[in-house]
Amino acid sequence: MAGTRGLLLGCIADDFTGATDLANNLVRAGMRVVQTIGLPADGQAPDADGHAPEADALVVALKSRTIAASDAVAQSLAACRWLRAQGAEQIYFKVCSTFDSTPAGNIGPVLAALMDELQCRFSIATPAFPDNGRTVFKGHLFVGDVLLSDSGMRHHPLTPMTDANLLRVLQAQLDPAGGRQVGLIDHRSVATSAAAVGERIAALQEQGVAMAIADAVSNDDLMRLGAAAKGMAVVCAGSGLAIGLPANWGIRPSAAAAVLPAAAGRRAIVSGSCSSATQAQVAAFIAAAGSAWALDPLSEDAEDAEDATTSAIAAWAQQQWQARPDQPLLVYSTADTAAVAQVQASLGVAAAGARVERALAAAARALVAQGAGQLIVAGGETSGACVQALQIDRLRIGAQIDPGVPWCHAALPLRPDSGLHLALKSGNFGGSDFFSRAFALLP
Ligand code: ADP
Repeated sequence: MAGTRGLLLGCIADDFTGATDLANNLVRAGMRVVQTIGLPADGQAPDADGHAPEADALVVALKSRTIAASDAVAQSLAACRWLRAQGAEQIYFKVCSTFDSTPAGNIGPVLAALMDELQCRFSIATPAFPDNGRTVFKGHLFVGDVLLSDSGMRHHPLTPMTDANLLRVLQAQLDPAGGRQVGLIDHRSVATSAAAVGERIAALQEQGVAMAIADAVSNDDLMRLGAAAKGMAVVCAGSGLAIGLPANWGIRPSAAAAVLPAAAGRRAIVSGSCSSATQAQVAAFIAAAGSAWALDPLSEDAEDAEDATTSAIAAWAQQQWQARPDQPLLVYSTADTAAVAQVQASLGVAAAGARVERALAAAARALVAQGAGQLIVAGGETSGACVQALQIDRLRIGAQIDPGVPWCHAALPLRPDSGLHLALKSGNFGGSDFFSRAFALLP
């Protein structure tokens, strides 16, 4: 019976939205999942009463993708030790599906350190996520129809990916003194059976190979790889491999894994994303006569002004909800490219971002204080700021709204009785009716 199962899978994700993406896939594959934001400060199990949460998988969201490799190793090892102390039988190191990294790391150094920690002699790495157009063939990563090195990732500001050959990419990140060789589990084995993958792994180990890039071009490939990874102390993957692991513990997809507490309270949306998908969602909400408060970044030129705006938003929300308690309210800074450029020219890019994030996070707190119990936040950075302002340190993951975006539930000091339902949508996710569909999904 699910309730009595202990923790099975311990996951370490190198960024926040990647953690949610992984958690979402695990829930869809039938696991009950709790995501923590960083490591719980007290090192305790993430439930208030000190007991391990009822979860098959715990996902620790780090922010370690682009920090110094030594820091990423230290944080990942701390997470690994904590997850093992909670009872995790297998560790899943979640990286980006475009294998975002540099010759200095952080994928290779972190995976090597986790293998050392767990005395794991062989591990696999695959960012494949066919549902999202990420496939690996002959060790080369494709984004849609093009090689990684021909995709937009070539120009990424922090982790430009100019080589699609993942064996070369991973090998370059490994300390030559460590002596670890990277090999390939090619598609012939992966397409055949889990046993064929096992034979390939044995052959690679005989050649002195300790890590292998695994090909996968379909979900069936990921299922066979997942079966072959049974008992492997640590695996490294994008969120795709998650679909193939739960079956190793006899877990099948089930709606029960996604059950959250009943939703309560008012409905609100905070949007700081300026991505085109979010622009369309905000426009659709306003076109449908939704009540919206537009935040003007340029008028907020002092902290006092921000406080005044937050109070004004609180008063507005109270009045709106008194008139119509069921209506969702939107507070947004979402704007088109020209408007954002104007704000950035006036304030500077970083200062503009920080100011808007602070104002939206304060608005989120004010909305929750006025009774919001169901909150959608649009924007990756905006989500981080709101989660921090609301003092949320863990989320239970529920049903998917759109690919990659699940409803979550958090305990909350501001709402001690029923907590908060939260959907954290990174910029370009979701159709234009995302807001209304999301609320309609909550009972
Ligand atoms: P996305 O997921 O779409 O990238 P983010 O929240 O991660 O969204 O990033 C959007 C960034 O743009 C945030 O730092 C936010 O504060 C900033 N921002 C939002 N609205 C405006 C605006 N009107 N002018 C300038 N910057 C803005």
